[in-house]
Amino acid sequence: MRTHAVAIIGSGPSGFYAAGALLDSEDPPVRVDMYDRLATPWGLVRAGVAPDHPKIKSVSLQYEKIAARPGFRFFGHVHVGEDVTVDELLDRYDAVVYAVGSQTERRLGIEGEDRPGSLASVDFVGWYNGHPDYVGLDPDLAAERAVVIGAGNVALDVARMLLLGEEDLRATDTADHAIEGFVASGVREVVVCGRRGPVEAAFTTTELRELDDIDGLTTVVDPAQMPPAEGDADLVKGTRRNIEILRGWAERGPDPDAPRRMEFRFLRSPLRVLGDSDDGPVTGVELAVNRLETSEDGRVRPVDTGERETVDCGLVFRAVGYKGMALPGVPFDEASGTIPHHEGRIDGREREYVVGWIKRGPTGIIGTNRKDANETVRGLLADLASGSRADATPPSAEEIEEWLSGRCPDLVDLDGWEAIDAHERAAGEPGGRPRVKVVDRSAFMDLVRPQ
Ligand code: NAP
Repeated sequence: MRTHAVAIIGSGPSGFYAAGALLDSEDPPVRVDMYDRLATPWGLVRAGVAPDHPKIKSVSLQYEKIAARPGFRFFGHVHVGEDVTVDELLDRYDAVVYAVGSQTERRLGIEGEDRPGSLASVDFVGWYNGHPDYVGLDPDLAAERAVVIGAGNVALDVARMLLLGEEDLRATDTADHAIEGFVASGVREVVVCGRRGPVEAAFTTTELRELDDIDGLTTVVDPAQMPPAEGDADLVKGTRRNIEILRGWAERGPDPDAPRRMEFRFLRSPLRVLGDSDDGPVTGVELAVNRLETSEDGRVRPVDTGERETVDCGLVFRAVGYKGMALPGVPFDEASGTIPHHEGRIDGREREYVVGWIKRGPTGIIGTNRKDANETVRGLLADLASGSRADATPPSAEEIEEWLSGRCPDLVDLDGWEAIDAHERAAGEPGGRPRVKVVDRSAFMDLVRPQ
């Protein structure tokens, strides 16, 4: 059977796992073109995972191996939906896989949410990770106290990055503009607010435990918020470990001499982001104090007790989850922020597939995407093997590259990305950093097309 050609839109973990599984196929043999609107691949591994988590980021070694396999090509600086359309890709490939992730934030829908100093974690994470879309964010970090809304791993990432000591920070690949911003920051205290209790929090244990290893940081939990230890045996392992850690902090009490402090406050929902005038900067957050109720379906829900609490602060970070965005010409479910599908085959479409967060919503760790991508690729390969494309005569790999070069003057291929990567790593070496990130389109192009 002829080699089939598949386009993958998005170069994060789910896209790479899909590429790896497709390149494994012998019957039919498959070649993969991976597209990204940025010059750089790896999606959230580059632009989402916190820079002080180099071990998690090292999963990119797997993606480098996949990229080095015969039949793989990378095309950066191609914005599907703007530079090229989905229909144009369907004319040129046997199948198209969307791996575009969840690119925006879930909104709180509360008064004052857009005040200066109230930031979406999606934007802030992009800013400190050098994502070109967010380098201009330039947040004012002068305030001494920040509140982070949400009790998930992104909330922890944001809180930790705000409180990391300078030495720890300078060892990372945090974008240079953000290192300077953090070093000059006035933030000494972060209050992380969960709307439900410690048992319901979405933190993973490793991420909680590592807070003990951060120099100068004390963790603060009100013992009255912790459930009695007798119930621990009934909890699933991860939750039990989280509770043990949080209870340990509650019993130990805060270190009054620590220069930086992270407080966990549970059973609190944000009601209003406060300021002195209608569009004035953040001065605090009004919180509702909740109690928990178990619904008939077994889900534990927060219920407003009517009691109110105000936390004075100059910064609010909204970390209540990501949301997918519609791609022009591709079905989309607004409510869930995902592309409707059945086992990765997009509903009502032929030759179009979906993987990762835009398939299942913004949940799970990086490795979750492998199984997810395998499911989709199984269906895709079965569809190709059924012979439905046997008589098709799509353009050659060379013709596609020619077409793209005409369309996208700043096209970045795999060699181009490798030149960027080598430059960034070399720039990091003198400071003992993994890399110094390039964040500017023209600087990328200077590396891709040296004069
Ligand atoms: P998440 O795990 O879904 O956490 C979102 C948090 O926001 C939950 O505590 C949720 O509370 C809360 N929330 C939602 N709506 C809210 C509202 N209206 N008001 C107050 N709180 C609200 O999402 P995430 O932190 O964005 O992380 C996304 C995924 O990436 C997760 O699977 C996460 O584990 C993963 N991730 C992993 C790492 C790592 O492994 N180091 C790092 C970052 C992210 P409820 O539970 O009550 O809904």
